[in-house]
Amino acid sequence: MSGRGSLLTKGPVRKPHVLCHLVALKSSDDPPSFVPGQRRNAGRTSVGGWKLRFRVFASRLLGLGVVALSSSGSAIQAGDGRRSASTAVKLNAAQKIDWGPVVNGRLPNGVRYAILPRQGDEPGIGLLMRNEGGFIEEQRPGERGLTHLIEHLVFVSPTINAPNDMHHLTKIGLPLTFPAPSAGTTSWRETNYFVSTRTTRMADIDTLLRLFREVATDLTFRSDAVDDQRADVMREMAGRKPGNVIYADYIAGVAPGSPTDVIDGQNSDDVPTASVETIRALYRRLYRPENMMVVIVGNVDPTTAKALITQRFGSWKPIASPVVHVPVPRLRHDRIAPISFSALQQGRRTALITVAMPTLSSHGSKRTQMDAELMDRLAIRAVNNRLGSAQPGSPSGKVGMFIENGEQGHRLIMLWDNFTGDTWQPALADLKRTTCGLGTAGFSTDEWDRARRDLIQELEQITGDMGHAKNVELAKDLSHAIAADRELIAPSALLQRARIWLPTIDASTRNAWWRRQWQSGHEHVRVEAPELARVVDPRQAIRIVLDAASLRASCRPLRQ
Ligand SMILES: [Zn+2]
Repeated sequence: MSGRGSLLTKGPVRKPHVLCHLVALKSSDDPPSFVPGQRRNAGRTSVGGWKLRFRVFASRLLGLGVVALSSSGSAIQAGDGRRSASTAVKLNAAQKIDWGPVVNGRLPNGVRYAILPRQGDEPGIGLLMRNEGGFIEEQRPGERGLTHLIEHLVFVSPTINAPNDMHHLTKIGLPLTFPAPSAGTTSWRETNYFVSTRTTRMADIDTLLRLFREVATDLTFRSDAVDDQRADVMREMAGRKPGNVIYADYIAGVAPGSPTDVIDGQNSDDVPTASVETIRALYRRLYRPENMMVVIVGNVDPTTAKALITQRFGSWKPIASPVVHVPVPRLRHDRIAPISFSALQQGRRTALITVAMPTLSSHGSKRTQMDAELMDRLAIRAVNNRLGSAQPGSPSGKVGMFIENGEQGHRLIMLWDNFTGDTWQPALADLKRTTCGLGTAGFSTDEWDRARRDLIQELEQITGDMGHAKNVELAKDLSHAIAADRELIAPSALLQRARIWLPTIDASTRNAWWRRQWQSGHEHVRVEAPELARVVDPRQAIRIVLDAASLRASCRPLRQ
């Protein structure tokens, strides 16, 4: 995520899992190490003349999909500098902001579709195909890493109609689309393929939908293509390893039992040796109509777009009987220890106080979802203001708070301090005093009011920038929202609700909300610092700092 991605993207959580990015390579601006609040470059290679770059991005937005925030990874900007979009479509700001209603549903065979008509400043549309079923659906051992391998093979495997062409998809698809930092990603629960077209011509969209359909059903997995990609996937995973070790250790402490803790998604040990039959069997099992979603976002007529999707995907008949999805592992409260630490020499320096809780099983009405979103954002603003004012002049992102809501299978409230040098003790003590104070006295009316003003200003800016939001990013957010049975809420709608609703809530109600949130999960304190390697008993040392801070803040001591 770029710095524009709002404070919601600045948390120290990293998705460890595979994000493959086909990219028109530019000089890397990624920092070399795994630093909270920044992104990490995890390796690169090339396939068929297309350069690949792999990155791990910051944690995504709140799953609600307030999409304007995710303006990074622009398909247009990331390419060769051709940015004709702003001149290609001249519309006034209001037209660009407004979205038409989302048209979505399922075809009779189970394929989901979603179309979001909108005016942006791009010349083309965003097109996405999502396959439900990532690492969680792999048999482990036996299929470890193969959903990721299939994702790679999509770009190089011949298809039934082009059995001798290793670059069928790219040869036909590339001229119709803009270069992009990414065209495929695989996570613990899904694989996504996505492109931005150069025009809104229906013929182009239809061609790309035809290619997507071939991806869904017609890959041949020719053995030479498979063997090429085995090596690439393993290289990629090796490049990710240092960051992933850090992440795995972190998630084991903060959210034990959650999907990313349980799945061990980085383990791709079956990629080098899995037979083509095994790979194909997994493909047949997962790439099924009821697991597939096609999303179109941009200046399109929804009726026409739906007709195109129906034409390409409506005739798809599954070969085998439906599979039962693997149940999503649940956060294990009983396994959350009060304290954890990491003393990795190449690790990060950060103090974290988190509260992890299960995600809600039902999200309620659109208004309920908007209100929940607004409360989260308001709290983030208020806490960030509090943390920032305690450390005036510190670099942006050094201290902060973040709420991760469902992306990794749990809800997580997290405060952090990315200290420098051997200063973990004062950093942790400050964080502890802050959480104690918030849990007892809460925020003042002035603090809440300031947070509200800041939030409304932020939403105004996001709403004003909506014309620049990328169709393909909106398509991702729409797909996540639909998969999670949530609404995709337009920033303008959220802004409107914020203006009406937030002033009606007084400070004591907001403080009670915060306390409820904090108490509904289990608090966990974590310190990551290479310096802890020199400490005889790091847990005890951390506990001493916490107890002293709690005492000074008149806060109850840490549970034993
Ligand atoms: Zn990859």
